Amino acid sequence: MTARLLIVGPQGSGKGTQGARIAASYGIPVVSTGDIFRDNIKNGTELGRKVQAITDAGDLVPDEVTSEIVRDRLSQGDAEGFLLDGYPRNTAQVAHLDEYLAGRGDELDAVILLEVPREESITRITQRAAEQGRSDDTEEAVAKRLSIYESETAPIIDLYEPRGIVDRIDGVGELDEITERIMSALAARGLATVAA
Ligand code: AMP
Repeated sequence: MTARLLIVGPQGSGKGTQGARIAASYGIPVVSTGDIFRDNIKNGTELGRKVQAITDAGDLVPDEVTSEIVRDRLSQGDAEGFLLDGYPRNTAQVAHLDEYLAGRGDELDAVILLEVPREESITRITQRAAEQGRSDDTEEAVAKRLSIYESETAPIIDLYEPRGIVDRIDGVGELDEITERIMSALAARGLATVAA
């Protein structure tokens, strides 16, 4: 048995860190569209050149481009189970993902929603900007990404909620404590980890 998971939360909610921990416990790959774009930009690929200005400005890469990248990644042999981070990010991408998963007879098992107040995410991103110097962590791009999260990404929860797969997790606290909250919620759904 494997797990098909999505982790959602505003920038600075800690979803990258928590997603990596959860994926390791389930023995599934993290599929992060942000990481895929950053790798391509770093390596100077054609895709990287196409998306750099968009990601630097904090705008969304066109849905067709993003959805195709995710389909390709999920079609690889190691992705029967997976943890999606950063995709879907709007309702059109939810439809693309639903269609792809239905085509292989699958659906998401759980959507982990990491809830963090706006002020807390801004503090955390500002801290990360100082530590990592990500090119899209400028004040302007961060503000744009947060507002896109609120207007375009938060509404995807309304699509998943009626399916009964959303776990709302308090994202404030110690890292281990938050991981524990997520693991308990997933265990309550009968999603057993590889180590269990
Ligand atoms: P992230 O690391 O998830 O914050 O993503 C960094 C940037 O990559 C975003 O600000 C977008 O420009 C782009 N990006 C990542 N995921 C998506 C997506 N699902 N749809 C469109 N653009 C995306």
